[in-house]
Amino acid sequence: MTEQKRKPEKLTGVKGMNDILPQEAGLWEFFETTVKSLLRSYGYQNIRTPIVEHTQLFTRGIGEVTDIVEKEMYSFTDALNGENLTLRPEGTAAAVRASIEHNMLYDGPKRLWYIGPMFRHERPQRGRYRQFHQVGVEALGFAGPDADAEIILMCQRLWDDLGLTGIKLEINSLGVAEERAAHRVELIKYLEQHVDLLDEDGKRRLYTNPLRVLDTKNPALQEIADKAPKLIDFLGEASLAHFEGLQRILKSNNIPFKINPRLVRGLDYYNLTVFEWVTDKLGAQGTVAAGGRYDPLIEQLGGKPTAACGWAMGIERILELLKEEDLVPEEDGCDVYVVHQGDAAREQAFIVAERLRDTGLDVILHCSADGQSASFKSQMKRADASGAAFAVVLGEDEVAKGEAGVKALRGTAAEARSEQQTVALEDLTEYLINAMVASAEDGDD
Ligand code: ATP
Ligand code: MG
Repeated sequence: MTEQKRKPEKLTGVKGMNDILPQEAGLWEFFETTVKSLLRSYGYQNIRTPIVEHTQLFTRGIGEVTDIVEKEMYSFTDALNGENLTLRPEGTAAAVRASIEHNMLYDGPKRLWYIGPMFRHERPQRGRYRQFHQVGVEALGFAGPDADAEIILMCQRLWDDLGLTGIKLEINSLGVAEERAAHRVELIKYLEQHVDLLDEDGKRRLYTNPLRVLDTKNPALQEIADKAPKLIDFLGEASLAHFEGLQRILKSNNIPFKINPRLVRGLDYYNLTVFEWVTDKLGAQGTVAAGGRYDPLIEQLGGKPTAACGWAMGIERILELLKEEDLVPEEDGCDVYVVHQGDAAREQAFIVAERLRDTGLDVILHCSADGQSASFKSQMKRADASGAAFAVVLGEDEVAKGEAGVKALRGTAAEARSEQQTVALEDLTEYLINAMVASAEDGDD
């Protein structure tokens, strides 16, 4: 009897954690390039912290009674040394931890930015994943409303640079601790009068984090939340002046905004300014960026009291918007695809490809799937499919004569010269560069 070979089981990725495949990667790179150049233009510096932190950083930094700490963190015990660790659910706590740990704030304020994956155990759905990506900024050491305004203006400029329209700004002020405490008393009194109508979340938060009841998404609770005592009515003079200062700068820079008294943000560390950028084009997950001021956090994490504000942006949601609005930039193929046949030609092809790369051209060198030399016809098919602008053809004859064939594969250059040209190997680089420049100019017309 022949032994039956068992096929190994197929493996899949973790639910809610997505692969970004090559056909999507171009869009990610477009976003990353755009956002990095924007961040540079405002003088922000990149900080890169580990994916894993001590769990305590988040329980202390984000707050015990938040969605993240209550139910969304990927926490585990290091099997080797028993440490309690967590995959970072957001970027602010770690950026602040690193700033304190490395004494970064001793010589004055810092403007920082980060980008990377974050992890939250949520129910996966459109715009909500378990591994998702954020880019964020933290302006550390600036107490006035000009820093709040600056980080908001940056977002507007990013939307403009990306070509996105219809992302709306909502702002609110959470005041300072004493103002929130006074409001909390009234809010709890009010919610107690309606306790029968609250949902499970609302009842749970009534005494632990009643402010969060205000940003409920439950349609049945909208009226209760709308009529609840507003924090803004409890603000003192200083908080109001800060809030008005921000609004003045926004107005003088023509940034439209709406004051949303129910905007409270999920994390505990916010005070004074909070804001969100919201679109109605993404269904339920319409907040693309969110942030505000978190003056108490640095001291809470063991640093010297230092004012701070920042925002975080959900990259998946922005990319979804770019697709939704048909703003995905066209992908360029590489510049040159080198086809070759025969041993001598293959050797020459490597040299030619490296020389072209020396000049800055992007080059794919044909490599067969089975290790055998493929026909020119099938290699040319590959060249075409690669999206390259030009094919360079090296056969035994060409190599013997010190020549190469060049064929334009794309655009106007291809129409004008669909015939293969013969070019001396020593002139090849110059010829291709000139041809690239010419076809780019044609394309501009
Ligand atoms: P929500 O109320 O939607 O849960 P949040 O208050 O938890 O949002 P933040 O912690 O402020 O969100 O994160 C900032 C941004 O990161 C959000 O506005 C969103 O664009 C994005 N984001 C947050 N969680 C996720 C997720 N699970 N998947 C994809 N993007 C996310
Ligand atoms: Mg959340």
